[in-house]
Amino acid sequence: MFTDSRSSTSVTGTAIPGVHDRQVGIPGFSQSSLGRTRVLCIGAGGLMAFIAPTLVRKGVGAITVIDHDHVESSNLNRQRFYVEDIGEPKAFALVKNLARECFSETTITGHRLYFTEAVEQGIDLSADVVICGVDNNQTRIEVAGHFRATGTPVIFCAVSADADHGYVFVQEGQGPCLGCLFPDSVNDDRYPCPGTPAMADILQAVGSLVVYAVDSLVMARPRNWNYRTVHLSDGNLDGSQTIATRQNCPLPH
Ligand SMILES: [Zn+2]
Repeated sequence: MFTDSRSSTSVTGTAIPGVHDRQVGIPGFSQSSLGRTRVLCIGAGGLMAFIAPTLVRKGVGAITVIDHDHVESSNLNRQRFYVEDIGEPKAFALVKNLARECFSETTITGHRLYFTEAVEQGIDLSADVVICGVDNNQTRIEVAGHFRATGTPVIFCAVSADADHGYVFVQEGQGPCLGCLFPDSVNDDRYPCPGTPAMADILQAVGSLVVYAVDSLVMARPRNWNYRTVHLSDGNLDGSQTIATRQNCPLPH
């Protein structure tokens, strides 16, 4: 059942027996842990298209999506939308489409807001894991600071404009933050130009690392990195590192 208001929508799925039979035996995987996990997704675009559906199919406890944008035809090559969604708020359309891929009692909520608006309006942003899939550093830095203050882990992800490479960075409740990794991003107020090229293949590669990182934060699936980079053209350029806290990090520690 959907409940709608002017700026938000929510639906809860119905559990189908047997859906998780093939994943419960994976070493370290805990269905009950995932089923208690609340994930907040900031952005409902190309990255979240390859993250949110997988979380829902795996049986995450709750997923909340924040996005201010509307669906355009140029989104359909890579984002989780269909022809009938064109013109609809992305947050609402993604909730509707995730509901079709939901076979657990997952609560799926969407807010048609900018992240800063959601904070200002006192929207409930409490979560066990935050995923930041926006396209600009200004919002990433706001998200980094907001959830560092609440001690909530944030998974940052992005892809390059040439669709060749991308990164995933896990900012945990304490320790190294996004400013430690990218100090120059703190005062970067540039936004990508409208019409920047974008394609699904690199988004899928990065999205899978994000979903794995969610598991690693809430159950005993191992992760020996907090920063991964992936390049489609040359695996020798890929990286897997543990970024340390920067002495002169521009963000508060
Ligand atoms: Zn830092």
